[in-house]
Amino acid sequence: MSMLVVSQIAQLVSQTVINYSLQTSPKESPSSDNALFVSTDEDIVATILRACEVAESGLVSLIALDCAVALPKILLPHAGELSHVPLVVHIEVKRNLSSVFLLHTAFPCLLLSVTPSEAHDNSIIATHLARSLRVTVIHIYFQDGLGDAFSVDRNIMLEENSILDYLSGEMRNNNLSATECDVETLWRAYQDMTSRLSRFTSRPLQPFSSQHSEQASDVHTVIFIIGHHCISEITLAGVQIIHPNIIAPLSSSYILETVSPHASRVFILEQLQDWPMKWTPFHLEVTRALQQRNPTPLIREAILGYDKTSITDSDLEELLNSPKERIQLGTFTTSDPPTIPLIPKHESSYFGVLRNLFDVRFEHSNSPDLVAAHGRLVTTPEFALGRVRGQLEERARLVKIVESLIHDSSADNNLHSLLSKWHLHRDDVLLSHTFGDEIIQGLGHDIHNPALRELFTLKHRFSLPSHWIVVSSWSYDLGSSGLHHILSSGLRVNILIIHTTPYSLRQSNNHRQHDIGLYAMNYGSAYVASIAMYSSYAQTMQALAEADRFNGPSVVLGYLPYLSDQTSAVDVLKETKLAVDAGYWPLYRWNPSKDSEGGEPFSLDSDSIKNHLAQFLDRQNHLSQLVRSKPTLATEIAGSLGQSLREARRSKAQEEYNRLLHTVDAPPMRILYASDGGEAEKLAKRLATRGRIRGLDVSVATLDSMSLDALRCQDGHVVFITSTAGQGEPPQNGRKFFKSLNSVVSLGKDKEILLSGLRYLVFGLGDSHYWPRAEDAHYYNRPSKELDSKLILLGAQRLLELHLGDARDADGPETQYKVWEAQVWKLFGVDSVEVSGKESEPITLEHIKAASNHLRGTIAEGISDTTTGGLAPSDPPLTKYHGIWQQDDRDIREERQAQGLEPAYNFMVRARMPGGSCTPEQWLRLDRLTDEYGNGTMKITTRQTLQFHGILKKYLKRSIQDINKALLDTLEVGGDVNSNIVCSSIPTMSEIHAQVHSFCMDISERLMPRTTAYHEIWLDQKMVAGHAVKDFEPIYSEWYLPRKFKIAIAVPPTNDVDVYTNDLGYIAIVDDDGKNVIGYNVLVGGGMGTTLGNQKTYPRVASLIGFCTPDQAVDVAEKVTLVQRDYGDRVDRKTARLKYTVDRMGLDKFKAEVERRLGFPLQESRPYSFTQNLDQYGWVKGQNGRHYFTTFIENGRIQDTQKTRLKTGLREIAKIHKGTFRLTTNQHLVVSEIEEDNLSNIKNILATYNIDIQGLSGLRLSSSACVAFPTCGLAMAESERYLPILIDKIETICEENGLRNDSIVMRMTGCPAGCTRPNVAEIGFVGKAPGAYVMLLGGGAYGQRLAKVYRESVTEPEILAILKPMIKHYALDRHEGERFGDFVIRKGFVPAVTSSQEYWK
Ligand code: SF4
Repeated sequence: MSMLVVSQIAQLVSQTVINYSLQTSPKESPSSDNALFVSTDEDIVATILRACEVAESGLVSLIALDCAVALPKILLPHAGELSHVPLVVHIEVKRNLSSVFLLHTAFPCLLLSVTPSEAHDNSIIATHLARSLRVTVIHIYFQDGLGDAFSVDRNIMLEENSILDYLSGEMRNNNLSATECDVETLWRAYQDMTSRLSRFTSRPLQPFSSQHSEQASDVHTVIFIIGHHCISEITLAGVQIIHPNIIAPLSSSYILETVSPHASRVFILEQLQDWPMKWTPFHLEVTRALQQRNPTPLIREAILGYDKTSITDSDLEELLNSPKERIQLGTFTTSDPPTIPLIPKHESSYFGVLRNLFDVRFEHSNSPDLVAAHGRLVTTPEFALGRVRGQLEERARLVKIVESLIHDSSADNNLHSLLSKWHLHRDDVLLSHTFGDEIIQGLGHDIHNPALRELFTLKHRFSLPSHWIVVSSWSYDLGSSGLHHILSSGLRVNILIIHTTPYSLRQSNNHRQHDIGLYAMNYGSAYVASIAMYSSYAQTMQALAEADRFNGPSVVLGYLPYLSDQTSAVDVLKETKLAVDAGYWPLYRWNPSKDSEGGEPFSLDSDSIKNHLAQFLDRQNHLSQLVRSKPTLATEIAGSLGQSLREARRSKAQEEYNRLLHTVDAPPMRILYASDGGEAEKLAKRLATRGRIRGLDVSVATLDSMSLDALRCQDGHVVFITSTAGQGEPPQNGRKFFKSLNSVVSLGKDKEILLSGLRYLVFGLGDSHYWPRAEDAHYYNRPSKELDSKLILLGAQRLLELHLGDARDADGPETQYKVWEAQVWKLFGVDSVEVSGKESEPITLEHIKAASNHLRGTIAEGISDTTTGGLAPSDPPLTKYHGIWQQDDRDIREERQAQGLEPAYNFMVRARMPGGSCTPEQWLRLDRLTDEYGNGTMKITTRQTLQFHGILKKYLKRSIQDINKALLDTLEVGGDVNSNIVCSSIPTMSEIHAQVHSFCMDISERLMPRTTAYHEIWLDQKMVAGHAVKDFEPIYSEWYLPRKFKIAIAVPPTNDVDVYTNDLGYIAIVDDDGKNVIGYNVLVGGGMGTTLGNQKTYPRVASLIGFCTPDQAVDVAEKVTLVQRDYGDRVDRKTARLKYTVDRMGLDKFKAEVERRLGFPLQESRPYSFTQNLDQYGWVKGQNGRHYFTTFIENGRIQDTQKTRLKTGLREIAKIHKGTFRLTTNQHLVVSEIEEDNLSNIKNILATYNIDIQGLSGLRLSSSACVAFPTCGLAMAESERYLPILIDKIETICEENGLRNDSIVMRMTGCPAGCTRPNVAEIGFVGKAPGAYVMLLGGGAYGQRLAKVYRESVTEPEILAILKPMIKHYALDRHEGERFGDFVIRKGFVPAVTSSQEYWK
C-alpha cells in the first residue's frame, strides 16, 4: 500500500522518476513517460545527476526497492554532489533501519513513515521541501505499512488537484536554497508545510505523533518508538508514546515541548539491528534537548526486535523494568545471513599495494571476509579497533609467557635458545616469523607444561602482522569519536581512509578528509600521510611502509576519485592529477618520530599546498623550516606566475595603445582566434600583419582571452577565426568563451540585446570529409557555424556572411580564405590602399633556426628566468635539437587556465643511445635521475632510447649534466637533424650485433651536429675565445635539415627496427657463416607521419636503391643526408621529409644525385628475407656463449606497478650485471651478455620482481603505443594509457576464438605523427579526437606493406563490433600460417596498399 501511494505521488509531481531496484523492469514497476528504470548494477549516482541536470528546476524522485542496505552506501560518498539538488529519495525498508539511518549523517532531511497515510503525507512534504529549498530529502517508509496508528481511515489519498494546489502554495520561507538553509530554517519550513498539509488532508499531522492514556501531568515515562510497530492496544498508565515522522532536522525546543515535562525517564526504542556506533543521531538530539531540563530525565536506549510488529502493555512493562544496560524488545528473527559488503573494483588497487608490500603480514582488520562469521558490525572501524586491541593484548601475553619460560631453568635447551632469539627479535618482521615457526615446530603436539600449552594456543601471535583498518564507502564511516579512539589508543594500528570524490565534483566547503589529516597531526603522536597512488606510486609505497614501521597509530588518507566501478582508469588518473596539481589533495608525510631524531617530521611530496595545510604548518612553526628546506613551494611559484602574467598583459595594453596613435581613420580590427593545430592562429596573425600594413589598428588574441563582457564593450569590428577540434568541438583556447556564450544564450529574456553593439565577421576552418558518416556531417566547421548563429541570437550585427575554409578544397582552407580576405579589406575601406614595401614574411622554423646562432636562441636566458616554468616561444623548437621537449600536463591544462595560471610546464629529455645500448652503471645513473628530477618513470622509445618525463625547468640543467656524467648526451635525438640511430637488437647473433652496433656509432658520430651551443648552455663550457670562433656545421649548415631524419639498420630475418619506415635504411647482408657483415642494402624514403585530411601527406615504405660495402656505408649516410638538405622542401614542413623529396625528384634521379656525390655507383642490391618485426622474448644464448633475456615492457614504460616492480627489479639487476642493457624499437628490453656465473642471480631477481612475466597473450606481446596524453603536445587522443585497456577486451575475443597465443601486430598513436608506426601494423589506430581513432588494417606482418584506412573514425564499441566477427572469421578461415594482415586483404576487408598514393584512396 505504502509503495503504491509513494509511487503515485512521485509520478504526479516529478519531472523524472527513477525506479531503482535489484530487478527493475518496466513490467514490474508502474510505468509513465517520466519514469526511468535502473537496476542495481547500473551507475545510479550518474543517472541521478544526469536527471537533475535535465530537470533543471524540476524535481527528481528516486524510488528504491529491495536495496535499503546497498543504496545508502552508494549515496553516502556522493552526499556532497547530491545534497543540493531537488531530489526526493524514497527508500522502502522491511524492518532494520540501520543502513538507511546512516544517511542521517550526510543529508539534512530524513522523514520516516510507518503507515500508508504517513507515507502519503511525508511524500508530499518531502516533495515540497526538495522543490522549494533545492535539497535532497530522504523519505523512508516501511514495505508493509501498518494500519494507521492514529487514524484508521483507509481513504488516505488526496485528489491530484489538491496535491498540486498544495504544492503550488507559497511557503513562508521561500526563495531559500539549500546552501543558505540552516537546521532552524529547514525545521521551520517543515513545520510550516505539515500544518498547511493538515488543512488539505483534515488529518492531524505533526512532526511527532504523541499518545498517552491519561492526563499529561501523570506521565512519568516517555517512550520514543522508531520502527515498524503497532501500538494501538497500549493503555499503560503514566506512559507517553511518541512516534517521530521526522528524524532530521529536529528542533530542541520542539522536543522539549513534546516530551512531557513530568517525565523522569525517557526510552528511545529504535529498530536498529546493527547500528555501528553507540548512539544514533536521533538519540543524541533528544539527549541534547533534554539536558536543558532540570532535573534531566534518565535517558535509555533500547532495540526494537523484528517480531514486535505489535507492542503491548506487557512488552512495555518488560522494557521499563529491564535491568540491562542495552535493552532489547523482541528478537531479531531474520534468517537471512548478513550481506557481505563488496569492495568496489577501483579500491582493490589500494589493497593490491598493501598485499604487495606486506605480503602475509597484511591483516585487513575490518575485512568483509569476516562478516559471515562475525556479522556486519565487523567492518566498522571501532569494532576492528577492538579486534586489533585483542590481538595486541594476546601478543603481549605471549611475550610474558616467553619471558617466564626463558627464566625457567628446566626448559629444553634448544627451545630455550629459540625463545631467547624470538624475544630478542620479536619486533623484527622477518626474524619474529622465522623463530616463531621454529618454536612451534619444536613444541610438537604432546604438550604437558601448562605454560607451553598456553604458548601453543597463542602461536598465531609470534609473527608481527601489519594491522590495517580501511575506511571507505563499503565499511561504515569513521566518526570523529572513532578517529579519536584510534589516535588515543596508542596502539600500533594503521588506518587507511579512502576519499573518492572526484576533484571536478568537489564541494568548495568540504574539507573533511583534510581536516582528518590536520586533526591527526595536531594529535602529535600519530603518523599521518596523504597519498594518491595514481599520482605517485613511489610516495604511496613509502608512506604505507613508514606507517607500518611507526610504533603507534597511523592515519593514511588515500585519494581515489571515482563515481562507480564503471569509471575508467584514465578518468581516475586525470582526476587524481587535477586534485594533486591544484593542491586540493596535497601529498605529504608527517612522521613525529623524526622529530625526536632531530629530523624534519613533515615531508611535502607534491608541489602544491593549500592554505589550510600551510596554516597548520605555520601554526606549528614548521612552515618556516619547510620553506627553508624547500624554498620553491608551489604557492610561491603560482604567485609569481600570476604577477608575470599581469605584467605581460599590462605591457600588451600599452603596446596596443601606442599602435592606436598611428592608425588610419578606419574602425579598429580585433581579431580573435581559436586554434589547436596552429592553422587558425597562422591565418589570424597573417591577417593582423596585413591589416597593419594597410594602416588599420589591429589587435590579435585568443578567443578565451576575451570575456563576453569585454566583447560587449568592443568598439570597431571583431573578426573571429576558429578551427574545428575533435567531434566538432571548439579548440582548446576557445572553449571557455564558447561555454559562456552557450550559457548566455540559454538564459532567456533580454539575451537578444546583449551584444547589440557588436559588429563581427567569422571565418571557420574544417575538413568536410573528416566525418564520413552522413549523420556526423554537421560536425564540419561546427564551432564557426555555432559562433555565427549565437552571436546573431545575442543581437550582434554580422558584417560579412560566414565563410568556411575546407581542408579538401584545391588549396585547402586558403581557397576560401583568399576570397574572404579580399572582402574584409573592402569592408574596412582599405581594399584600395596601396601596400608599399614587401609584406613581412611570417616567421617560420626556418627563420628561427637560421637566427638561432647555431641552436642557441635565448635558451640560456630562458632557463634562468624563474618567473615562468616555460621558455620563450621561439626556444622550444630549438631545445629539441638539444634533446629537450617543452611539454605541459594536458590533463590539467584547462583547470590551470581557469585559475589564471600558465600551463604546468615540464620537460621531456631524451638520451642519445645509438643502437639502444647502455651499461649497468649508466642505467643506474639514469634510474636515479628520474627519481630525483623526473616523474619517477622512464620510457623506452620507438627510437631505441630512453626518455624522461616531468622534469621542471629548474632541474633541467642538472638533469643534462647528470646524463653527461653517465657518459651519455642528449644531442642528435630531435630537431631537424639525424635522430637516434636504431639497429636490430638480435640477441642470438652477438658477433653481427657488435659490427652493426659499431656501424651505428660511426654514422651517429659522422652526422652529429657540430654546434658548441649544447656544451655552452648545459655543461657550462665557455665558447672558444669568447665567441671569436664561429660554430660551423659542415653537414647541416646554419639551416640544418628541412625536417627530422631517421636511420635504421636491420639484420634479417628480423625487421624489429621496421627499416622500411625510416628516411634511410640499411639491411645487413651477412656471409654464409653468419659471422660477418659483408655489406648493406640501402633503402630511402620511408616515413609514417601524415596530417589528418591533408592528402598531400602520406605514409611511405622505403625504396631499395642498391648495395654498399661496410666501408662505404657511412659515406652513403652522409650523402643521402646532404641531398635531403639541399633538395628537401623548406616551405611546407608537412611535406619536408625525405619521402616527399624522393617522390618529387623521382627515385632514379635521387639515387643518381647520391651517387654523384659519392663518386661511385651503388651495387645491385642483394637478396634477403624478413620473417617478423617483433622481438624474440625470453632467454636465448648468443654466439659468444653468453645469455640474453628479452622482457616485455608494456608500451616501454619503466615503472613499478602492482603487477610488476619493473623499475626496482631492473635497478637490482643493474647492481650486479656485468653485460649491457639493450633497448628495442618495439619498446622492450634485452638484458644482454649475462655471464654464466651471474645467470641464477639474475633469474632470481627477474622472478622476485615479476619481470619474467609469463602467460601474456600473443596480441599483447605484439602491441605498441606512443606516449600521447598527458605529455605529448600533439596528442589528439589517448594512446599509452588506453591501449592496454583496449587490449584487455580484444584479448577476450582472441581467446574465445582460440587465438590467445597468435601474434597480431597492433599499434596505436595519439596523432598522425605515427611514432609507433601504426601505418605498417596489421591493425593500427591513429588518434583523431578524444575516444576516436582512424582504424587501419592490412599492414605487412614484418613491416613491408602499408596498412589501409578501414574506418575514418571509430570509437571503442565500434572497434569491438568490427573486430569480433573479423577475428572469428580469421580463426576459422585462415590458411596455414597466414597472418592477420594478409588475411584481411585476401578476404577483401581492405585492398593491399602497394604504393603511397593508394593510402588515401
Ligand atoms: S604519435 Fe603523436 S601523440 Fe603519439 S607521441 Fe608521437 S607525436 Fe605524440
